[in-house]
Amino acid sequence: LEAPLYADLAGDLNVSFEFFPPKTEKMEDQLWSAIETLTPLGPKFVSVTYGAGGSTRERTHNTVARIARETSLQAAAHLTCVAASRAEIDDVADCYWEAGVRHIVALRGDPPEAGTKFVPHPDGYQGAAELVEGLMKRHPFEISVAAYPETHPDAASAQSDIDNLKRKLDAGATRAITQFFFEPETFFRFRDTAAAAGITADIIPGIMPVSNFGAVQRMSAMCNTDVPGWMGKLFEGLDDLPAARQLVSGTLAAELCRKLYAGGVRDFHFYTLNRAELSYAICHLLGLRPAGLEKTA
Ligand code: FAD
Repeated sequence: LEAPLYADLAGDLNVSFEFFPPKTEKMEDQLWSAIETLTPLGPKFVSVTYGAGGSTRERTHNTVARIARETSLQAAAHLTCVAASRAEIDDVADCYWEAGVRHIVALRGDPPEAGTKFVPHPDGYQGAAELVEGLMKRHPFEISVAAYPETHPDAASAQSDIDNLKRKLDAGATRAITQFFFEPETFFRFRDTAAAAGITADIIPGIMPVSNFGAVQRMSAMCNTDVPGWMGKLFEGLDDLPAARQLVSGTLAAELCRKLYAGGVRDFHFYTLNRAELSYAICHLLGLRPAGLEKTA
């Protein structure tokens, strides 16, 4: 695919930004500064993750509720099935509904100890498809779910993973957001496979700008994401040069987005890690500007 030049990109995008709930006051300041920087880009929604094993229930709730209360952004709360009964999850959902939160990113979640197998709570939901069904019965939420272009590690096969995605969407989810990936073809292949399986909902690529290559390598190994050899080479020798690393990272993520754009993608979900600069720069390169400051032709 011939990707257009950055200068020719029109900024006709829908973007969303993912944050994690802050642990300390300093991290809280960093999160709110990131939200302030990114708000003028007019995201369709911003989402807040739920810690492994449900460990951030309070913090996620407080962060999402504050976004809903104090900003004009649509706040989405991630929610998982780990270590919670259906009744407990229903309570959490009720609290969100009461706080004015109308969008849930519904997930199965992973066990608190990395590397162990997910075991559903005896009175809990077996997985995300059941969670979507349960949430829809409770309140008419807008629901997003997760999708895996390189197949979820627990899936029996790529086809059964796609079948599971279809079940989640058929249960009432509106869109799927993908796990991060580094080659545009990975996304295009997955989009084609999903379409062939009769999936018509939007599949939004999850974009991870890589600042800490070592951390991303470890994360990728756990979630079945291929880290291409060329990428490792591009981060070689930059361990002690954070600014140079940041530049390389932004360039790679922007290039990925530019190629996705060439393939017709107009919706992008950014894993911001609570830092605005990289995501902002990538959106800017794609032509997105704050309302009232539209790009000149
Ligand atoms: P499910 O869709 O339930 O699938 C789990 C596995 O079971 C898959 O392998 C699937 O193929 C298989 N499966 C399900 N049903 C069946 C069936 N009937 N037959 C056969 N196989 C089946 N984790 C967190 O803890 N907190 C977060 O905030 C968080 N946010 C995320 C956001 C995004 C965009 C993504 C992509 C992931 C996120 N995760 C988060 C990680 C996620 O919780 C893990 O990847 C988890 O292991 C799977 O969750 P899921 O919702 O995709 O599970």
